[in-house]
Amino acid sequence: MSDNNRLRIAVQKSGRLSDDSIALLKAIGIKLQIRDRLLIAHSTNQPIDLLLVRDDDIPGLVMDGVVDLGFIGENELEEKMLERQAANKASGYKALRRLDYGGCRLSIAVPNEFDYQGVQSLVGKKVATTYPFLLERFFKQNNVSAQAVMLTGSVEVAPRAGVADAICDLVSTGATLEANGLQEEEVIFRSKAVFIQRSEALPAAKQALIDTLLPRIDGVIQAKESKYIMLHAPKAYLDQVKALLPGSETPTVLPLSGDEDTVAIHVVSPENLFWETMEKLKALGCRSILVMPIEKMMV
Ligand code: ATP
Ligand code: MG
Repeated sequence: MSDNNRLRIAVQKSGRLSDDSIALLKAIGIKLQIRDRLLIAHSTNQPIDLLLVRDDDIPGLVMDGVVDLGFIGENELEEKMLERQAANKASGYKALRRLDYGGCRLSIAVPNEFDYQGVQSLVGKKVATTYPFLLERFFKQNNVSAQAVMLTGSVEVAPRAGVADAICDLVSTGATLEANGLQEEEVIFRSKAVFIQRSEALPAAKQALIDTLLPRIDGVIQAKESKYIMLHAPKAYLDQVKALLPGSETPTVLPLSGDEDTVAIHVVSPENLFWETMEKLKALGCRSILVMPIEKMMV
């Protein structure tokens, strides 16, 4: 049986969110032993258990309080919330962090030969989707009377199969739509992965553990976007060099032994340094310009 004092986190077992969610947990210091096909994985250094399930199940597990936390796509979360509200089931949760992976959009697409003139072209049509509640909300908001046809897979072949006139499906690059002779017309929802918590209060020890995890997640996200920049700059152009470096209000400026006219500058930049900026720095006389990834940070 499960131990109630251990934090339970639901993660997609196998799919587009699995690797990034598990990598994030590992990056914030949670050691995990994940063995294939098992539903549960225990952390070896923290009172944390992972529940590895289909992503469809994660919103309900959090909303019913079966798990304390979950990683889920906003598309799935919002759909399940609407579905549960319609069925008078618990639909509360706390969004803790929006994450930097799982990005996609839920879009309506029509066959290339469909003469699409705006949302009113969908009146009286059948639209195949795995997200009927999000689609129906879009229809309602746009005063369109159309029919959402629920399909759990292969949505993109529905028009060719004569099952629907259009589709509403997740898109990231658009390659699948193109391969199926479909044209994207309306973006109805933009999604990323989110980290969520059940809405009821947790025992103090569990909440305290969550409160230590969140700054670590922030640190991992910030570190991914940031760079550590080091360079040698001519003292005479220090102000111009600083102006070129993003986030360099208070850089570390160090003397170089044996060279009175040059200093070493170290700076944590909130963004990458573009080649163009490096070329400008070089033109000012800067040398040995290094841009390095940061693994972890706490500000
Ligand atoms: P499961 O077997 O767990 O139910 P699934 O087939 O429903 O998996 P995946 O295809 O693994 O789900 O997608 C999971 C989530 O990844 C989506 O709900 C969405 O939030 C996100 N995602 C990001 N990019 C895409 C994309 N191009 N297509 C589909 N989902 C995407
Ligand atoms: Mg799913």
